[in-house]
Amino acid sequence: MISEGEARSKILETIRPLPSRRLSITRALGCFAAEDYFSSLPLPNFDNSAMDGYAVVASSCSKGERLRVIGEQPAGGDRHLRVLAGETVRIFTGAPMPDGADAVVMQEDVTRNGDEIVINANVEAGEFVRRRGCDLAEGQKILAKGERIRAATTALLASQGLAEVIVGGHVNAAIISTGDELAKPGEKIAPGQIYESNSALLDALLQRSGAIVKAVEHCPDKRESLIDAIKRGTKNHILIISGGVSVGEHDLVKDALHELGAKIDIWRVAIKPGKPFLFGRTQQSQPSPQSSQRSARSRSREADATAPGEDAMTGRDYCFIFGLPGNPVSAFVTFLQFVRPAILKMMGATNLDLPHVPARLTVDLTNDSDRAHYIRGELEHGKFAPVGRQESHALFGLSQSNALLRVAVGESLKAGEIIDVQIWD
Ligand code: AMP
Ligand code: MG
Repeated sequence: MISEGEARSKILETIRPLPSRRLSITRALGCFAAEDYFSSLPLPNFDNSAMDGYAVVASSCSKGERLRVIGEQPAGGDRHLRVLAGETVRIFTGAPMPDGADAVVMQEDVTRNGDEIVINANVEAGEFVRRRGCDLAEGQKILAKGERIRAATTALLASQGLAEVIVGGHVNAAIISTGDELAKPGEKIAPGQIYESNSALLDALLQRSGAIVKAVEHCPDKRESLIDAIKRGTKNHILIISGGVSVGEHDLVKDALHELGAKIDIWRVAIKPGKPFLFGRTQQSQPSPQSSQRSARSRSREADATAPGEDAMTGRDYCFIFGLPGNPVSAFVTFLQFVRPAILKMMGATNLDLPHVPARLTVDLTNDSDRAHYIRGELEHGKFAPVGRQESHALFGLSQSNALLRVAVGESLKAGEIIDVQIWD
C-alpha cells in the first residue's frame, strides 16, 4: 500500500498532456489554453461615450449653460467632429468622442430646444467617457497556458478579433462496471441483486471533469468477458473500471489486466474510502471487427468515432486504466482524488486541484486509522458538518453532501477549528 500523495505523484508523472488542437472559440468552453495569449488591441480601442447624451468641453460648461449642437456622432463610424467651448455634439453609447470634447452629459440631464441644449447638471472632465485602454492595455496577457476557457474568456478572445483558440486535447473515456449482482436501472431486479449506480456516477463525474464519455458497458464477473470488455475499453485515452479490484475470488480485474499485458503501476492506496484503487496502462487497442461487437447490455456512444491519442512522452498510444472500488463512495472519492487530476493534466490544465475553501468545523474529528480519511459533509454559510453515514456504501449520505474534508492519519480536529474543505459542485 502506498500513500495517497505517492499515488497521485506517480499518476501525474506517468500521464502527459494530449496534443493540442485549434478550435472555434464557441466550441472551446471548458477547454484549457495551450498557449499564452496577449492582447493585440487595447480595450476600449478608442475613446468613446458611455451614454446617450452630449459631448462637451467640461471646463466651459456649468449648470444652466446653453450650448449649440454642431453635429451628431452615432456609433459605428467616426465623423471626425471637433467641439469648442460653447458647442456640443449629440452622441450615442459606444460612439467615438469628438476632438476637443472631454465629457458626456447624459441626455436625461439636458433640455433640448432646436439647435441648443441647456445643461441641468454639473459636468466634470472625464464623465461618461470610456478612455482607450482603460480596461485592457495592448500587449497585456489575457489568457495563460493551462487556464480554463470560461464564458467571459471566449468573449475576451472575440474582442481581440480571434475566431479560434489553440487548446489542449480532449480525453475520450470508457467505463466498465463489473459485478454479477448488478441490475441495469429500468430493468427488473432479482433477489440478491442491486441496481448498478456507478456508471451513472462516473459518467457524470467524467463529464464534469471535461472528458468525453465514449462507451459505457456492464460486465459480469467472468474473466473472459472482462478481458473482451477491457480490450474494447482500451481504444480510448482512459478506461475506468468499477468494482472487481479488491482481493476476493470474484475480483478479476487485476488478473484480466495481467492477461492483456497491461502494466499495473499502483494497486492499493492509503485512502479511506478507496483502498483497493488501481492504476495501470496498456497500449491502446485498435478497433477490430471483434472488438466492435458489444454485449447485449452494453451502451455505446462510439458513433462519433474514437481517435486514439498519443502519449507525448514515448510517442506511443497509451490507454490509462483506473480501477475504482465498487462501493459508490469509494469510487467517488478515488475519482476526485486521482482520476480528475489525471484528466485535467491530459487536457493541458495547470491547476489540477479541486476548488477548496476555508470553513469552520462543527464537530470534533479524529482519524485513528492508517489511511487518510475523506469525510463527506455539508458546507453551508462557511460551516462544515459531516453528513450521513461515513461508510463506503452510503450513497444517500454522499448525495446529501457538497464538500469533502481530508483528515490525515493520526490527525485530531476540534469543533470550531478552521479547516480547508474541497468542493465539487
Ligand atoms: P467490489 O469492489 O466489486 O468488491 O464491490 C464492492 C461493493 O460495491 C459491493 O457491495 C458491490 O455490490 C458494490 N458495487 C460494485 N459495483 C457497483 C456498481 N456499479 N453500482 C453500485 N454498487 C456497486
Ligand atoms: Mg464486484
